[in-house]
Amino acid sequence: MSSRMLRRLDPSSELELLAEVSQLVTQFDMQRVLGKVIRLVANAIGATRAHLFLHPNYELDWRNIFQTDRLDPDTVFSASVGGLENGLQGLAAQERKGLLVRDTMMDDRRYVFGDELRDGQSALAIPLICNQDMMAVLLLLHPKPEHFTENHLRLVQIAMNQASVAVHNARLENHVRSGKHQFQAVLHAINNPMLVLDRAGIVQMMNAAANRYFAEGQMGLQIGRNLYDFAQGDSAFTHILDIIAYPPSGETHWLFKAHSEQRNLHFDVLMSEWENPMQSESGYVVMMHDVTTLIELDRFKNDMLRMASHDLRSPLALITGYCDVIEMDLPKDIPNLLGYLEAIRRTTTRMDNLLTDLLRIERIQSSPLELHQPIVLKALLATIMEHSQPAASQKNQQLLADFHDLPEQIIADPIMIREAMENLVSNAIKYTPDRGQIIVRVFSRETALYFVVEDNGVGIGEEHLPKLFTSFYRAKQAGTEHIDGTGVGLSLVKTVVERHQGKVWVESKVGVGSQFGFWLPLN
Ligand code: ADP
Repeated sequence: MSSRMLRRLDPSSELELLAEVSQLVTQFDMQRVLGKVIRLVANAIGATRAHLFLHPNYELDWRNIFQTDRLDPDTVFSASVGGLENGLQGLAAQERKGLLVRDTMMDDRRYVFGDELRDGQSALAIPLICNQDMMAVLLLLHPKPEHFTENHLRLVQIAMNQASVAVHNARLENHVRSGKHQFQAVLHAINNPMLVLDRAGIVQMMNAAANRYFAEGQMGLQIGRNLYDFAQGDSAFTHILDIIAYPPSGETHWLFKAHSEQRNLHFDVLMSEWENPMQSESGYVVMMHDVTTLIELDRFKNDMLRMASHDLRSPLALITGYCDVIEMDLPKDIPNLLGYLEAIRRTTTRMDNLLTDLLRIERIQSSPLELHQPIVLKALLATIMEHSQPAASQKNQQLLADFHDLPEQIIADPIMIREAMENLVSNAIKYTPDRGQIIVRVFSRETALYFVVEDNGVGIGEEHLPKLFTSFYRAKQAGTEHIDGTGVGLSLVKTVVERHQGKVWVESKVGVGSQFGFWLPLN
């Protein structure tokens, strides 16, 4: 038994022991510290066995802090997970205080004691409580009765309280460290460049992708370097630098496109402010999503579309032309052939319409908006009604206007907005049977202009509604089989409206009618 073993602890030895414990618990290596503290205390009070019952809820913490599986199962000290529901250790856990058993044979509570006490006739059970959480109970044994005293209990309690604080700190540190590791792992798994900058633009952190994209060469981007010094030679950073130089007040994040002419790359950039109020640090997080391949694919698609549409149109025109010539030369008494010609002409027209629509989509999506022109709304609506009237009259439909609270003028792209409005009206005429009714309602409310077309036509099944505004989608509604179309019109309407920061909607019931509408922000 160690020379330190004190049957009766005198105050100076107590102090010396506690001083040693406090000294130990300041060390960072919690894995060993707790074992050392327990051994020290066990020796000091002459315990022959010490066993730590670890609460299973904190198994992971224990494993990290304490590495339970590495404990040498010596005779003095052992540890295990669980077992806190029974025995003396269970009582201590329940009462959340240290317990002293002078003689296990004579103790009133002996009926609850379990196998754990077989090596001892005196016992101490001391809980380790971290921040209100019961983490473990330490059981100390001696083979003879009346070995442990109240004084031992108090001493061990104090030592274990200190150890608890250290365990608590080690737990926190572990959490922080593992959070940091996880964060680093996420950061590096992101396949797009990401930078953390301080207010002045000095790089605080950058992920593996940022290294791959920008770190090469002597002048490459590095942690600790100012973005300015690096970014002079890369246009991808121009706007980022502008924001750092003149942070727009009231905004905390920005989404914009950036183009690196030097590297021939395109990025969607999300830049956000970050702030650490505790340490009064702040700066920016910059995520750069490389969209170069997407942009190239999009350009390729548009080039293909444009080329294919133009190249396909000439033979179509030729086919239609020859149909006319053949028809002129054909004896009029061969009705079958005339029917065939008509069929060729019809399909050719449909193909031509499809190509026109494909080009329209491309044009509307990619052309810049002519938003600077104010449009006199009343005049625009009158034109639309006037243009739509013949088609409605042909089907004996009533085309009604309900315009009120109209602003004098709106700012929008005149050609596109007219196209969107006419599209909704012509659809209503197209999908409403003869003698139906179409009402065009236009009004302003608060800061928006509403354009709504109501019809009492065939209506649309609920299952089609969510897909209606997608390109080339046609709702195959009974009664519309004979109606020609490409499924492009509504997607054009949506694109135009959204490019004006507005929103489209549809409500419809089969056999009752439909309401298509959109609103545009005024001013
Ligand atoms: P298209 O009319 O050329 O087929 P659209 O994009 O304009 O293409 O319309 C998509 C589909 O939405 C149409 O095929 C039709 O099924 C449905 N639809 C559009 N407007 C109406 C309407 N007013 N009433 C009933 N169905 C409509």
